[in-house]
Amino acid sequence: MFDTVLIANRGEIALRILRACRMLDLRVVAICSEADRDSPWLRKADQVLCIGPAAAGQSYLDHNAILYAARETGAGAIHPGYGFLSENADFAEKVEAEGLVFIGPGPQVIRQMGDKIAAKAAMQAAGVPCVPGPSAALPEDAAAIRDMAVALGFPVIVKAAGGGGGRGMRVVHSPEALDTAVPLTREEARKAFGNPTLYLEKYLDRPRHVEIQVLCDNHGNAIHLGDRDCSLQRRHQKVIEEAPAPGIPRSAIEELGALCTRACRQIGYRGLGTFEFLYQDGIFAFIEMNTRVQVEHPVTEMVTGIDLVRAQILLAMGQPLPWRQDDINIEGHAIECRINAEDPETFLPSPGRIARIDLPGGPGVRVDTHMVQGAVVPPNYDAMIGKLITHGADRADALRRMEHALSETTIEGIRTNIPFHSRLLRDPAVREGGPTIHHLEAVLAAK
Ligand code: ADP
Repeated sequence: MFDTVLIANRGEIALRILRACRMLDLRVVAICSEADRDSPWLRKADQVLCIGPAAAGQSYLDHNAILYAARETGAGAIHPGYGFLSENADFAEKVEAEGLVFIGPGPQVIRQMGDKIAAKAAMQAAGVPCVPGPSAALPEDAAAIRDMAVALGFPVIVKAAGGGGGRGMRVVHSPEALDTAVPLTREEARKAFGNPTLYLEKYLDRPRHVEIQVLCDNHGNAIHLGDRDCSLQRRHQKVIEEAPAPGIPRSAIEELGALCTRACRQIGYRGLGTFEFLYQDGIFAFIEMNTRVQVEHPVTEMVTGIDLVRAQILLAMGQPLPWRQDDINIEGHAIECRINAEDPETFLPSPGRIARIDLPGGPGVRVDTHMVQGAVVPPNYDAMIGKLITHGADRADALRRMEHALSETTIEGIRTNIPFHSRLLRDPAVREGGPTIHHLEAVLAAK
């Protein structure tokens, strides 16, 4: 169906996708910006095109430049990775209009799930439990907004319908605060996402973030690959993830997974996807769906033994799912630490050249990174430079392996958050398992 994949991304995920392509004997076209021109991973691709300057808007986000690169190189498919154009329905549409395959679900589904109000409405219709709140946009009228919030009960969270990356949301504790919070968030949403539409949700005070991984084919089959716990967050951004979520009855996950796969069939989902939930007092509540590969996908790969990116590409080729739900077994426990080029105390970005890098290994240790000695972390993009993943027979085993993996890792020339991870793994609530989404911020505030 296609023999060449253009990877419309950079960094560790681009390399991860290249590796999946290699498993399928696919030719790989890499693109890069001028800032990434010397990135060593590019040498692993069959062909490289520099498509524009460092600014993402003129390179990794430039639809025309990427489509031109695909045409010039004879690519038959485009893999968007995560971030950048991965959830851009307009781009997916243009890719299809060119007669190419967009490795992801159809543009209509991306558009529907990208509008968080529409996504929640679709989930409600499919019987998936959602966070309480009207599945409608906030009106303009301040009094009407107050009425909605009072009916829901404070605290509430004001969220952008087109939001993502943990931005465009604000917690509000009183009707008075609402009057200033709504216009502020609306303006932020308009600037950041080009969409000022807001909605309201009940603010849950001590939830965990638990998500379900799904895989669907074009033939009406959908399965889930269990859960991940991504509660350790800073500024609504995940820092450490694990699979499975500790302390949650497996029967509850099976039930939730079955609801998700049913919803997938109902919305006509195709490929790899994630249903995100908040979990509090034994209740799951849907917040959003990600229609792409996620940063934390390796923890699911480690406990299921399935190459998710390879599966995603095969599904995009139109192949039927090679597994039934009964074939999916969760074995042991996996943990992932996101390695960022940042100061471990202040979290300020720390771009620069890697003078020396020494990576860990051994049983149950996986490193997903495009970093090598001499590589440069440009200041223009996300600070994440890789991920350390460990797998063990149980959680204690995976934790122990992670502690050693972190202590074996040396990166010189830039600062990284490795010391921060090492400290965090010694935190009693983290060791115990199952802290809430507020735990990490509370630890930092206490310091
Ligand atoms: P994004 O698309 O920006 O990641 P999400 O809707 O997935 O936005 O929310 C990101 C994070 O924000 C969640 O993991 C959680 O920590 C917090 N959050 C979102 N909605 C709520 C809510 N209703 N109550 C409490 N926390 C929330």
